[in-house]
Amino acid sequence: MHPLHQPLQPLAALGGILLMGILGACAPEPQPAQGPSSTSPSPPPVVLGAPIPFDGARAYAQLAAVVALGPRHPGSPALANLLETLEEELISLGFKTRRETFSAKVPVTQATPSGEQIYTNLVADLAGPSKDSPMVLVGGHIDTKFLGESFIGANDGGSSTVALIELARGLAQTHPRNAAWRVVFFDGEEAVNFSWAGKENTYGSRRHARELYKRGEAKRVGAVVVVDMVADRDLVLTWDDYSTKWLRNIFWTAAKDEGLGKHVATARQRTLVKDDHLSFLDLGIHAVDLIDLEYGGPLRPWWHTDEDTMDKTSAASLKVFGRILTKGLLEVEAEVLRRQR
Ligand SMILES: [Zn+2]
Repeated sequence: MHPLHQPLQPLAALGGILLMGILGACAPEPQPAQGPSSTSPSPPPVVLGAPIPFDGARAYAQLAAVVALGPRHPGSPALANLLETLEEELISLGFKTRRETFSAKVPVTQATPSGEQIYTNLVADLAGPSKDSPMVLVGGHIDTKFLGESFIGANDGGSSTVALIELARGLAQTHPRNAAWRVVFFDGEEAVNFSWAGKENTYGSRRHARELYKRGEAKRVGAVVVVDMVADRDLVLTWDDYSTKWLRNIFWTAAKDEGLGKHVATARQRTLVKDDHLSFLDLGIHAVDLIDLEYGGPLRPWWHTDEDTMDKTSAASLKVFGRILTKGLLEVEAEVLRRQR
């Protein structure tokens, strides 16, 4: 993840308009007209699917285990070990899994002396009612930034990993669902150089977004929800203006409906976040980034430092995040079904 450091000036003037959008956004945007004839029978309304369970305490316990593996940068034994464990569990939950392994040319650094890196995305599918069922894709990065042996990425890399596997458990428990679901653990989100510049980051999500088109799946993907840095003990999800508006509205409304409005930023705090969601937005797929980039405060003092440890995170935050995520995802599932009729 990389924040743009200046507030979003050109859009600031639109604040009133967008704020109205949020206040009036208790439901997703209206669907397009169904056709020219007003006499054609309208399809039955889409109903919400079964609520998705999410156990924040279990996710937090697993976070401790993930962090105990040590640094999990691309190509590390710890990351390979973690992938293995996750894949085994996903298979046992009933997901169909697939690894997307590829090699990429990268900048020459201490971690990548050959200028090449092998990356592996772990893709896990739960089928929908038919082969053509619309799909909700939820993803996040599993790699940690290479910052030496003492960077363990409890929040940055760890929290997305455990939130996704916990979500997968909830989806499996409530399968079959009305849509197809895919959970993807992206490798190589972190920039190879210390600073984020150009395309030496988000390798895994860019690969997966391209694969969606190659495999003919892209048109089924109604929404991509990216999860990143979601266990900050002071959790406030960042208002990212790159994210697709109807998707962001759904999660912000879900937070308010759950009485968790203080855990999402206001339009006044809007900013632009470069993260895995851009890989999909760039190819025309609707996507939102659920991230708290103010890790430890506005200057994010713990971000990409050895301070990114368990004590800066909390089970309570993972629980709050799980409620916002799963409540929002129910609405996303319904909206994706409506839009693909
Ligand atoms: Zn990072």
